[in-house]
Amino acid sequence: MSREEFQALLDYSVEEARTVLLQGKVADYIPELKKAPAEQLGIVLTDLEGHIYASGDTDRPFTIQSIVKVFALLYALEHFGPDLVFEKVGMEPSGASFMEMTTLSDFSNKPSNPLINAGAIVVASMISQEIEFDHFLEYISGLCASNGLKVNEAVFLSELDHSERNHALAWELKRLRLLTNNLDESLWFYTRGCAVEMTARELSRFAVILANGGYDPLTGEQKVDAEVVRITLTLLFTCGLYNGTGEFAVRIGLPAKSGVGGGILAAAHQRFGIGAYGPSLDIYGNSIGAIKVLSELSEKLDWHTFAWNE
Ligand code: GLU
Repeated sequence: MSREEFQALLDYSVEEARTVLLQGKVADYIPELKKAPAEQLGIVLTDLEGHIYASGDTDRPFTIQSIVKVFALLYALEHFGPDLVFEKVGMEPSGASFMEMTTLSDFSNKPSNPLINAGAIVVASMISQEIEFDHFLEYISGLCASNGLKVNEAVFLSELDHSERNHALAWELKRLRLLTNNLDESLWFYTRGCAVEMTARELSRFAVILANGGYDPLTGEQKVDAEVVRITLTLLFTCGLYNGTGEFAVRIGLPAKSGVGGGILAAAHQRFGIGAYGPSLDIYGNSIGAIKVLSELSEKLDWHTFAWNE
């Protein structure tokens, strides 16, 4: 397929997917998130040669929300090592929604995985004890090749003001002695991370590093350790889309992570880094439009990890 044909397929898929946007709903449990424009949808693909294919609404910044859990996990795995991280969080899918209180696995007395809120608060607690938030923000910016990502202060404050559930989870984590830092600082750090803003373009720029074993094909640097990327992508495949993860794995077959701000990050192994944005969400809290585009593209382009190519 030529690059022009590829771009045309992308444009067609995005326009087609707009038809499902009305079936979804913008997140409303945080007042500031309600303001997101439900009609927006966009996707950016970055390939290993640095070609960028963009379609739809791709330059509007959105808060990454749960996608911050991916950056936090990478940071924690690189700085503390897998043994220490998995002492405090598991590697099992929870099958529960991101807000569920039942996220502490019964047998191990620790959160099922680092991609649900309980697990991410544990990871944020570890990181926040070591570094200032601004240093973590620089780490995220570096991975997105941005000169300086920012926090959306209005979303941050709104979220901090409505974080009763996360407080409840954090108190339980404290009781289990899983917080390394104090409760308020751990929650502050986690919540501030959720309010980091970026565009689908920046997200796709990060995703291409994941799709390429941690090696940035555009700058020629090993940005993340390959083993850390392998662990992270496996967890994204099994736990990245809340209780919609199984269906996404069957239908689309890519490691991915969504956020309630409407972002989705996905990695097509050794092919593309994908960043998508569409704040209208499905019943699981995943961007309904982005999932539709990804499903169309995965089918047409044989992206599924287990696709059989003759
Ligand atoms: N900031 C959100 C929360 O902790 C993140 C949720 C998400 O995107 O799943 O409630």
